[in-house]
Amino acid sequence: MVQSHFNEGELVGVLTTQPLGRVLDYKAPEGGAFVGAYVEVPLGPRRIAGVVWGPGAGDYHYAKVRSVLRVLDVAPMRDEMRTFLSRAADYTLTPRDAMLRLATRVSGLGDPPGVRRVYRLGTSEPDRMTDARRAVLEVLRDYGGLSFTLKELADMAGVGTSVVKGMVKLGAVSEEDAPRDTAYPRLDPDHGGKDLTPDQAAGAQVLAQAVASGQYGATLLKGVTGSGKTEVYLEAVAACLRAGRQALVLLPEIALTGEFLDRVEARFGQRPAEWHSGVTQTERRRCWRMVGQGDADLVVGARSALFLPYRDLGLIVVDEEHDTSYKQEDGVLYNARDMAVLRAAGNGAQVVLASATPSLESWANVESGKYRRLELTSRFGVAVMPKMSAIDMRSEDLPGGRWVSPTLRRAMQDRLEKGEQSLVFLNRRGYAPITLCRACGHQIGCDDCDARMVEHRFLKRLMCHQCGATKPMPTVCPHCAAEDRLSAVGPGVERMGEEVQALFPDARVAVLSSDLYGSARAMKAHIADIAAGGTDIIIGTQLVAKGHNFPKLTLVGVIDADLGLQGSDLRAAERTFQLMRQVAGRAGRADIPGEALLQTYQPDHAVIRSIVAGDEEAFWAAEAAERKAAGVPPYGRMAGIVLSSTNVQEVFDLGTAMARQDGPLRRIGAQVFGPAPAPIARIRGRHRVRLLVKAEKSAPLQQALAEWAGQFKLSKDLRMAIDIDPQSFY
Ligand code: ADP
Ligand code: ZN
Repeated sequence: MVQSHFNEGELVGVLTTQPLGRVLDYKAPEGGAFVGAYVEVPLGPRRIAGVVWGPGAGDYHYAKVRSVLRVLDVAPMRDEMRTFLSRAADYTLTPRDAMLRLATRVSGLGDPPGVRRVYRLGTSEPDRMTDARRAVLEVLRDYGGLSFTLKELADMAGVGTSVVKGMVKLGAVSEEDAPRDTAYPRLDPDHGGKDLTPDQAAGAQVLAQAVASGQYGATLLKGVTGSGKTEVYLEAVAACLRAGRQALVLLPEIALTGEFLDRVEARFGQRPAEWHSGVTQTERRRCWRMVGQGDADLVVGARSALFLPYRDLGLIVVDEEHDTSYKQEDGVLYNARDMAVLRAAGNGAQVVLASATPSLESWANVESGKYRRLELTSRFGVAVMPKMSAIDMRSEDLPGGRWVSPTLRRAMQDRLEKGEQSLVFLNRRGYAPITLCRACGHQIGCDDCDARMVEHRFLKRLMCHQCGATKPMPTVCPHCAAEDRLSAVGPGVERMGEEVQALFPDARVAVLSSDLYGSARAMKAHIADIAAGGTDIIIGTQLVAKGHNFPKLTLVGVIDADLGLQGSDLRAAERTFQLMRQVAGRAGRADIPGEALLQTYQPDHAVIRSIVAGDEEAFWAAEAAERKAAGVPPYGRMAGIVLSSTNVQEVFDLGTAMARQDGPLRRIGAQVFGPAPAPIARIRGRHRVRLLVKAEKSAPLQQALAEWAGQFKLSKDLRMAIDIDPQSFY
């Protein structure tokens, strides 16, 4: 029997959020403490947060052990959450304190409940409208019924607090004292379900039964964009609510949340809790606390919502499960899809992975019987997957510095005449990827990275896409000082906008790229305007591939279908296949059939051919066979190690030593490759060296890696990042 309560003075082990590498002993405070209690403890002169993890180790002089300062007034961390954090730490080779930080990212966690002054939309319009007042009203309307603190509201509207106060006097904004952290309204599973098609109903029933079983299980929900996956998994959410348990829906992109919240409200009569970087601190704190005491039925959020302290989580949906943004690329390196499965397994919860183009990992898990597969085969209504074809660029007549082929141009002209929309897709932000000096051949690079600077004409600057550094566009070459010889090479979306506007002077052209907006709100408004038909031709990056619905769009032209196939990334083929299908899927959602044209210089490339043929099963089978033969994920295990330092010699020396002292890895049959300069050999002034470790699927890779890495002492300037199953190779 594990001890669950400690009396005053008994030793407890506290895991803190500080990077100490171990659990510290403290004496339980007056009134004692339960295991899992969130506490505040003294550390040197500071007070820090932690969680009672278990009994103390007692290996320190009792008299010198300090006492827990106080137990915070929040629901204690549940056993399954502690287990989850420990397992996640082991899996990702992350210290447990870092996992605890992920799980406690709210400010004022221990503040006593009380009241605070909040501001909401008032009842009357101000008699005189100013820009500042309009901005305040817009924020309040945008966020539905949510309330703000004075500072939050003023900050979000970009006005002074006096503007808000003035509006209170006019009755345009209401001011009231509200209790902190109120419960979210209950969602009603019977509020507004749609009549499902037989296909959808069958899928919904399978999921509902799985959720009702109260057991762990995982399902891949596959279906083309528009087939009703969302409708189906909302029924799984309904089943979860009926069972009295909580549900979590993860979305890959904050920009999609607004539209999704409206759908939840239509289905369940109320809005759910929200958790992502766009949510105010006040709201985050409320969400964290309410989730913990079971007063939030459904959370819609980003990957970090997996680390909320659910009271009873019964369902996790990972929408667009193949999306690369689920992989956290700095700090704790984790893949939200894997963590969702881990979390559900320990909770008797169901996981639903939804996608039109599943990851090979999920295909493999279906194949091996670990996941159930549900498929929605047709689009809702009459629309079908667009007709796909390749444009062979080798035989198109196109002058240098132009990228829209005559064939694509004719197709766009045709759409313009019919009053339909076209999308020109190019996955490259900015104006041009290269700025070249025509006199000496110099390409302008970043001072701190081994990367070219990308011209952003809209911002009138050059920008490094690695570190974000910018500098003004020079007029003389920084290398040879020649004047006016710098020229833009290659296309970015901004440049495509120029070319398309020149081809179709009367068309309304809009460039859609995440860096062109001052705020998420501005972007949302623009997207809504486009969807309503305010644009004839959309030029877009990856941003448009994700979930937005443009009903008048019937043509997708991909400027460079070969782009993603370059490079050494093990997932290059998979990514290209997914992205092309996602983008093509934007066309013809409504009742007019769509068409997708892919510009390529290698129409005979196996990947391009399978995209055009639309034969998914064949593509996945071929891709799986290749990975199997190479022993790489998902059929083998891999870890990427990146060493970095400002001193190039030091990184290589460590890399070489690691490659040599590979005993712990060899013992499990794993191989080390490298050291080699990373594809981007310098970022932010730090030199980067990579090693790759490959092992068999069943090998205990994490333990071996921990033992291996533990052999080396890192100097202060050296950093080692271990990435289990790396998704990107940079
Ligand atoms: P997916 O998630 O697969 O892209 P959605 O669930 O978003 O598909 O469905 C696409 C569109 O079709 C949505 O506007 C949705 O409301 C509508 N739709 C899907 N199924 C039905 C249905 N059975 N009845 C009414 N509308 C539906
Ligand atoms: Zn840089």
